[in-house]
Amino acid sequence: MQISFTTEQLGSDPRLPASAEIVRTCVHCGFCTATCPTYLLLGDELDSPRGRIYLIKNMLESGKAPSAGVVRHIDRCLSCLACMTTCPSGVHYMHLIDHARAYIEENYKRSIADRAIRMFLCALLPYPRRFRLALRVAKLFQPFRRLLNALPFVGGRVTAMLDLVPSDIPARSGMRGPRVFASEGRRKGRVVLLSGCAQPVLNPMINEATIRLLTRYGTEVVLPVGEGCCGALVAHMGRVEAARAFAVRNIDAWIAEAEGEGLDAILITASGCGTTIKDYGSMFRNDPSYAEKASRISALAKDVTEYLETLDLIPLRSGGLKVAYHSACSMQHGQQLKEGPKRLLGRVGYKVLDVAEGHICCGSAGVYNILQPEIAGRLRERKVGNVLKLKPDIVASGNIGCMTQIAKGFVDADAAVPVVHTVELIDWATGGPIPSALEQAQTDRASITVG
Ligand code: SF4
Ligand code: SF4
Repeated sequence: MQISFTTEQLGSDPRLPASAEIVRTCVHCGFCTATCPTYLLLGDELDSPRGRIYLIKNMLESGKAPSAGVVRHIDRCLSCLACMTTCPSGVHYMHLIDHARAYIEENYKRSIADRAIRMFLCALLPYPRRFRLALRVAKLFQPFRRLLNALPFVGGRVTAMLDLVPSDIPARSGMRGPRVFASEGRRKGRVVLLSGCAQPVLNPMINEATIRLLTRYGTEVVLPVGEGCCGALVAHMGRVEAARAFAVRNIDAWIAEAEGEGLDAILITASGCGTTIKDYGSMFRNDPSYAEKASRISALAKDVTEYLETLDLIPLRSGGLKVAYHSACSMQHGQQLKEGPKRLLGRVGYKVLDVAEGHICCGSAGVYNILQPEIAGRLRERKVGNVLKLKPDIVASGNIGCMTQIAKGFVDADAAVPVVHTVELIDWATGGPIPSALEQAQTDRASITVG
């Protein structure tokens, strides 16, 4: 695509030359439109990757505040990155949309309602204690859902939030950090496990299963002092400085471990976070004091399934259960990890089923399902419909956002299919306890049969 940034512009903002180069790489072929969920649903070129690249180019070239229309089309992007998988020219859309979101945050004044809801999410989600408290408060408001839905400007988004609150808020895990979990037997590896922020509140069993599984196979697991949210949630709302502050804390904490007893990997059980941490190197490329450290961290970062693939897992049980595997966008498009998780599930005895339209987002996308509930709801319905056609025993995924989104879809569809994390299934198959969602589903089924 032709660009017309002035030399002065390119020199005044260190992010601009990289974005200009990304725009220039786009040859306008439109292949990406075929796999873009928003284009699929809305049919508007401006809600396609190609259309958005054009809007972003104009916005950045103008150097002015964008119009409400431009912001609307950019806000509707899920950052699912399906377009990056499809693009034959290697356009790095992720870096471009991240820049666009930051530019909007810096140059556009959103409505009071929009600002309030974004501020609320940024102040709660990255902090487990606040988030847990917010979930408890939200439960008190659930009976007033209809009333809240009628609130002007924010009603739909408030109810979208309430709908994602789990029916039972799990107790805090006894396996929280900071702490080191020694390997059983001889230590063969040493890793950091990112505890995460929203995930351990919504489902602490994921990290527990990971720790059990890794230590059983000889890996020492460190939950270091000082780490926190990876920064993805705030980055998706254009808050670059807040995202960098989170990243700096993590980089410092993990470098201290790497330079102490050493690290084989930094493992992440939420693929959305993994995509962001693997990009720390790029996030700090213009920062002389953190560029090298951030690149080291990105090189050490792995999705937990990448590490598990290196272990000789011994299956003990799984009963050949049919698992519909939902590949999160951040897993398959963000990290390009497509076959590994399915291979692992197959290795330990599950029958893995591919979901039709597996490349299309489920609508979760960080906080997208709260900020854009209408589009997210349509994508969720479509995903749940495709999953249910397979008649699976279980759905597995490697991202808590997708798990929550799909589980909500099953509630709406009155379908009793448990949704679990891939690592919970692998832990169970190799000697760990049954995942609680699966146990609950089995109990419910038994009581229906008996009743
Ligand atoms: S990131 Fe996803 S929603 Fe956004 S333009 Fe690309 S394919 Fe479309
Ligand atoms: S597929 Fe790639 S090169 Fe073609 S229009 Fe989309 S982003 Fe541009």
